[in-house]
Amino acid sequence: MKKEEKQGVRPEPDGQSKKKAGVVKVTVDYDVCASTGTCVQVCPEVFEIRSDGFLYLFMEEVPAELQKKAIEAEDLCPTGAITLVGDDGKPLR
Ligand code: SF4
Repeated sequence: MKKEEKQGVRPEPDGQSKKKAGVVKVTVDYDVCASTGTCVQVCPEVFEIRSDGFLYLFMEEVPAELQKKAIEAEDLCPTGAITLVGDDGKPLR
């Protein structure tokens, strides 16, 4: 068997490929967000404050390479408006 074939993603017995592990979703309680911009400074790939003064998200699922920054944004949010949720639907922390 070729090396590439050994490393390929194997389908599950039911024909489905394995679910992507480690999906993290970001949610913001907009009633609590004070538009301080801290999260934007820490993780501008995910968070944005637009000219209307409100916070927006560029994405709901945070890719692995941005999760560390998103967690830092959650930690530093002064109002606790950010919640990161794991695969199981529970907050990461
Ligand atoms: S850090 Fe918190 S309060 Fe500030 S803009 Fe982001 S979500 Fe809103």
